[in-house]
Amino acid sequence: MRFSISQLKQFARCPYSYYLKYKEGIKIGGNINLVVGRAIHKGFEMAIKSIKTTGSFAQKDIEEVVNAEFDLLIEQGEHGDASEEQIEEGKERLKIGLEAFKIYNFPKQRDIIAVEEKFVSPDFIDGNEIVGYPDLITTDAVIDFKTKFRTPSEVDRGDFFQVGYYATLGDSDKAVLVYVILLKKGVKIIEREFVGKELEQAKTLARQTLQIFDTAIKEAEVNGVWIPSGFATGVCSWCEYGKQGLCEFGCGGKIKI
Ligand code: SF4
Repeated sequence: MRFSISQLKQFARCPYSYYLKYKEGIKIGGNINLVVGRAIHKGFEMAIKSIKTTGSFAQKDIEEVVNAEFDLLIEQGEHGDASEEQIEEGKERLKIGLEAFKIYNFPKQRDIIAVEEKFVSPDFIDGNEIVGYPDLITTDAVIDFKTKFRTPSEVDRGDFFQVGYYATLGDSDKAVLVYVILLKKGVKIIEREFVGKELEQAKTLARQTLQIFDTAIKEAEVNGVWIPSGFATGVCSWCEYGKQGLCEFGCGGKIKI
């Protein structure tokens, strides 16, 4: 089988959401935070590509790219049912986010190996191929950017799995999650490094998780049972399937009495 990292992360969060998305093909409307996050992410991609080819980037150019991406996503309806007021709030957050390009310590040109390149890891385990697009690979680390709207208290399970898998590409000794946190009062960047034992744990988790998913997905395909686990793990509270009433199990964060 061939899996993408996104598919596996979806399954890790809740098998039933995997079923709704990939088996039923139910698309969920986006939201304004998603639009802001994707626009900022595009900015990082452009900035690093520019550093890789020319050695630097111009803040003005990145601002143009980020703003254009934001407008495009809004035009495409990726903001879901966000109101005009929420779109304006999103623009304010975007402005705050643009400060990230001034404070982030970008890698040097000579250290950049790959930016958003497709990697297919053949035969990662039991003949399964995994497709992923690590944001950035440098001479000493594999790096992934995550935009957040509040400071995360822990590393998301799906992100830990992703880190472990990416770290197996090119045998990196270090993996880094770069959290770009857009708070109302300003932007904050937290780099969470995984090295040594912790990185090995992440790699082991990635392999074990894939093995479990491989078996679980094949079984679910045969018996038609996709377990709605989000309620037990707290994922339902932010799952768009639940919030938009598309999941018969999810409570959208509100426990009915
Ligand atoms: S609402 Fe909860 S149970 Fe339903 S798909 Fe989302 S996470 Fe799974």
